[in-house]
Amino acid sequence: MQARIISIANQKGGVGKTTTAISLAAVLAEHGKQTLLCDLDPQAHATIGLGYQKNQAQNSISEVLLDGVPASDALFKTRIENLFLLPANSNALGIEVQLIDAENRETILKRSLDSIRYKYDYILLDCPPSLGFLTVNALTASDSVLIPMQCEFLAMEGLVQLLNTIAHVQKSLNPSLGIEGIVLTMHDARTKLSREVETEIRQYFEGRIRVFESVIPRSIKLSEAPSHGVPITQYANLTAGAWSYTNLGEELMGIE
Ligand code: ATP
Ligand code: MG
Repeated sequence: MQARIISIANQKGGVGKTTTAISLAAVLAEHGKQTLLCDLDPQAHATIGLGYQKNQAQNSISEVLLDGVPASDALFKTRIENLFLLPANSNALGIEVQLIDAENRETILKRSLDSIRYKYDYILLDCPPSLGFLTVNALTASDSVLIPMQCEFLAMEGLVQLLNTIAHVQKSLNPSLGIEGIVLTMHDARTKLSREVETEIRQYFEGRIRVFESVIPRSIKLSEAPSHGVPITQYANLTAGAWSYTNLGEELMGIE
């Protein structure tokens, strides 16, 4: 086994990265895939969204990146079968600054995950809303990057910087990094704007970057799930939000 490592990244805030990371990780795990979700965001929203306190675990991504703690000593099995979590805690707030002086600072995560990737089918990395060292570490460690884009005005704003960062990482740190695709989030089929943004994005990227067929609808259940500490497929299995992430997971796994 050799995990496929996927960064979920977009430096734009609040576009659905963490919701996608948690929901997709749960879908993969439910399909029997050994899945590890790494929370790379000091906000620790993925950790909290899976029902864990920010500072509950002794080790976290901070200890892995800054103190050389092996990833295997920081991750744990969640309450969901086949799903493991490498949590974040508030120490992660200092990571960006502390990494400035670290040796080979862009490849720390890659080196750490290399020793455990044989245990998993998928490793998903939930990135923070910035293009700093944490995101660069994630991209350097990944096989591909999945980009959530919110179906709203200025959806593509900032995308140039993200694509530039990906190109930079491909050139200097990780030549095999691919773009998994774009996933459209918070789509409201009732509004003209959502439909227009979807059409515009599909046309713009046609033949260049995959835009997943599965579109994530705006859904109150999706926004409520994190406060219950469970993924959407457990919180509200029979809702459009759960179906859309199940479809996305199946598209990603290549199941039609
Ligand atoms: P950040 O950049 O802060 O890390 P993010 O890109 O990870 O944000 P999320 O945290 O997933 O974005 O989502 C932002 C907010 O929107 C959250 O409150 C979340 O619950 C809500 N949200 C995400 N996806 C949906 C959706 N499809 N429908 C309704 N609400 C959503
Ligand atoms: Mg997030």
